[in-house]
Amino acid sequence: MNSKQTRHFQDQLECELFTVRQALLAELKQSSQNFAGELAKLLEQSSPAKWLDITAEHINPQQYPHVQRLLKLEAALCQIDIGQFGYCCDCEAQLDANAIQTDPTIQRCRKCALRHT
Ligand SMILES: [Zn+2]
Repeated sequence: MNSKQTRHFQDQLECELFTVRQALLAELKQSSQNFAGELAKLLEQSSPAKWLDITAEHINPQQYPHVQRLLKLEAALCQIDIGQFGYCCDCEAQLDANAIQTDPTIQRCRKCALRHT
């Protein structure tokens, strides 16, 4: 993958990251549970870079698809930073270009994904 393609996916990931953060905030604010409203306030006062740490202390990510998506998005952006984007995190094979187009946050090639689940 050349740097122009990587840049394209980076833009796409950052754009989705922003959208998902807003969606998570909205979800927490709409919740009838007190702790969710408190958490929303806390997040608004914090740097987005700390959101995953903060949410992990307060809620179970398994119950919040937006948090799971944030985890994946941040992992993919981290892989761009370290130059590992587009490669399987298990076997380091180059990932299928169509699969990345479909979801730039995929971490594993088809073979490893099957083994992983
Ligand atoms: Zn693999």
